[in-house]
Amino acid sequence: IMQWSLRRQSSWVQLAGHQGNFQLSDGGEVLKRFSEVEAVCLQALMDDPLRPFVPQYYGSVTRGGHSYIRLKDLLSGLKNPVIMDCKMGVRTYQEEELTKAQTKPILRTDMYLKMVEVDPTAPTVEENEQQGVTKWRYMQWRDSNSSSSTFGFRIEGIMMDNGSVQRDFKKTLTNVQVTEALLCFTKSQLPILEAYHYRLQALGEALKESPFFKTHEVIGSSLLFIHDRTCKANIWMIDFGKTTPVPRGMELRHNVPWALGNREDGYLTGLATLTSFVGQAIDQ
Ligand code: ATP
Ligand code: MG
Ligand code: MG
Repeated sequence: IMQWSLRRQSSWVQLAGHQGNFQLSDGGEVLKRFSEVEAVCLQALMDDPLRPFVPQYYGSVTRGGHSYIRLKDLLSGLKNPVIMDCKMGVRTYQEEELTKAQTKPILRTDMYLKMVEVDPTAPTVEENEQQGVTKWRYMQWRDSNSSSSTFGFRIEGIMMDNGSVQRDFKKTLTNVQVTEALLCFTKSQLPILEAYHYRLQALGEALKESPFFKTHEVIGSSLLFIHDRTCKANIWMIDFGKTTPVPRGMELRHNVPWALGNREDGYLTGLATLTSFVGQAIDQ
């Protein structure tokens, strides 16, 4: 048992989020720190056409004084999996976060430092003097500095089969750069690229039929790409911590530009771009 759990632990990786948010569990499950917003979404998704694209949700559990969401471990049973997390949408903050941040313009040194680390020329003269930026400024900069604003998705991280993790895609901005990242991630293996392409198209079809998708602003959610040596390749929708229902009677289109108040997230814009980039990688 000892060996089995060690082996399992060594291949598990978390490409995004705070490292303390996840715990491994027995029986092919992972535990993610509980959020009511996410739990409500997962519950609804278990009864929606999107269910085959979402890790199985088993309810919640308390451990060591903290509550967790129980999810199927998408990596369980895979040997040396290769993983990519793509954060979807043209923006990665909720409208509510933006309005809150605008009314409370506190200067954040931590966000200023993250900004300088990615692009030392990004802060204005004033921001450099203050050694701080507002959260509002940081959130907008982060999306416009990555491919989120233009392509409707950005690569958050990739883990290769040797376990090496790359998270430095914040400036992966052009069509050519993204296609290159896809070719590197798949080692240009045609069957894998084709399986991903097929799965993205199937997801597009399921999204059209999904009542959940029509009525939710999907922010900060990712597509998790996973394949292994056996050429099994799959894509899953994860991370619903910022996915919220729109008011009764409202429906989102997910492929029109965002303007404050319309709640549009550009999820389908991102899916279309990503699908076409995988198609381009196949043609190369
Ligand atoms: P953030 O909001 O910063 O993106 P988060 O704390 O909401 O992070 P998630 O995005 O849900 O966390 O997950 C973080 C990472 O954990 C994913 O990129 C993926 O590598 C891994 N992960 C999440 N859910 C699963 C799962 N069901 N099976 C396997 N790996 C998972
Ligand atoms: Mg995430
Ligand atoms: Mg999240």
